[in-house]
Amino acid sequence: MRLILMGPPGSGKGTQAKLLAGREHLTHLSTGDMLREAIRSGSELGLKARDAVEGGKLVSDDLLYDIIEARLRELGSDKCFILDGFPRNLRQAEFLESTLPRMGIGIDAAILLDVPRGSLLKRLSGRRVCSHCGKEYHLEFSPPKVDGICDVCGNKLYQREDDRPEKIEERLKTYDEATLPMVEFYRNRGLLVEIEADGGIEDVLQRILDSLDKVKQGRV
Ligand SMILES: [Zn+2]
Repeated sequence: MRLILMGPPGSGKGTQAKLLAGREHLTHLSTGDMLREAIRSGSELGLKARDAVEGGKLVSDDLLYDIIEARLRELGSDKCFILDGFPRNLRQAEFLESTLPRMGIGIDAAILLDVPRGSLLKRLSGRRVCSHCGKEYHLEFSPPKVDGICDVCGNKLYQREDDRPEKIEERLKTYDEATLPMVEFYRNRGLLVEIEADGGIEDVLQRILDSLDKVKQGRV
């Protein structure tokens, strides 16, 4: 299967992508990892990406496209994958649609993790991070043993700037604006699979796997 995974910040997208990759034997392609790999490889594209990242700039869409295309070519047309963090908007989805067929690749499903806004706010605003080792906690779902102190290294926990309520609203608004047109794009092509993703990690994973079974049956 070749899958796209979409979901708002706090939807558990990265976690589900990793679990799905393991269960379905897919190569997990996250945008962040692809960028880091390209930079590490020292390829021409990697050097360009490094310049952008070190200059504190965003990597341009064109460079990102080149890196993703190179990675997919390397993977070959018989490999299955799950894309995590790409595409992020309609333009990027259109890029994929025009590029993949040239490599003999098609997308089987674009999965959207649906989580009610209230739950996202709760999940994101409760996050705390260790100032020293970076371990993540959640005030409600995975609290430290001692309030405000890291279990592992005993240092103080803090809240990321991004996880403050006003920033969260901003992030979710940005996500909606970029994603909704892309969701329609995949709906119109009959590829959209919507998953109710407000619940435990294992429950959500099972719902995704059940839906993918239906996709596979439909394909036979
Ligand atoms: Zn720590």
